[in-house]
Amino acid sequence: MKSLDKQQKIKTIFEELNKLFPEPYCELKYSSDFELLVAVILSAQCTDKRVNQVTSELFKNFKTPNDFANISQETLEKYIYSTGFFRNKAKNIISTSKILVEKFNSELPKSSAELMQLPGVGRKVANVVSSIINNESVVGVDTHFFRVANRLGLVNAKNPLDTEKQWIKNYPNYLNHQTHLLLVLFGRYYCSAKNPKCQLCKFKELCNYYKG
Ligand code: SF4
Repeated sequence: MKSLDKQQKIKTIFEELNKLFPEPYCELKYSSDFELLVAVILSAQCTDKRVNQVTSELFKNFKTPNDFANISQETLEKYIYSTGFFRNKAKNIISTSKILVEKFNSELPKSSAELMQLPGVGRKVANVVSSIINNESVVGVDTHFFRVANRLGLVNAKNPLDTEKQWIKNYPNYLNHQTHLLLVLFGRYYCSAKNPKCQLCKFKELCNYYKG
């Protein structure tokens, strides 16, 4: 396996990831594109489990950009305080909702670049959302993606943006939400930040981190 070039290596890794997670799924719960955007904004520095707890109550009462454009900051904060950074998140969700109502006919923009113009929507959020709702060829590099891609030596990057740039250059066939999901699930359940399950891992021979 040591002599695998980049393309062989990524093919081998994703064949195995597809076996590990034959039906990869987004762990955030949502029932519309807009709810997905709100859930991904809330997921910054927070677990998907906690976000789902919060949104299960929130989305019962508030569903559309118009609902969120008219909610008070104080009310929204009460719903989302347990996700952390709740003041900023509430402010951004309300501002974003107002812009969607006023400029986008209450729909989400059709590209990651446009999504990134909205308050509270950074590169990762925009890429994750657009890869799902617009099927856009982008990848959202979150903490799991960054860690796994670097440990496996698929990229050699110092930050998420460098990771994304190297990924786009080297792996144009792996720019989609499926790719994001597989690396995130693998990072969450096997290649965790602390105590990764290396003994169970099929990638030991390919892994820079394991080889030290
Ligand atoms: S060998 Fe360990 S560090 Fe490397 S990819 Fe597998 S779980 Fe992660």
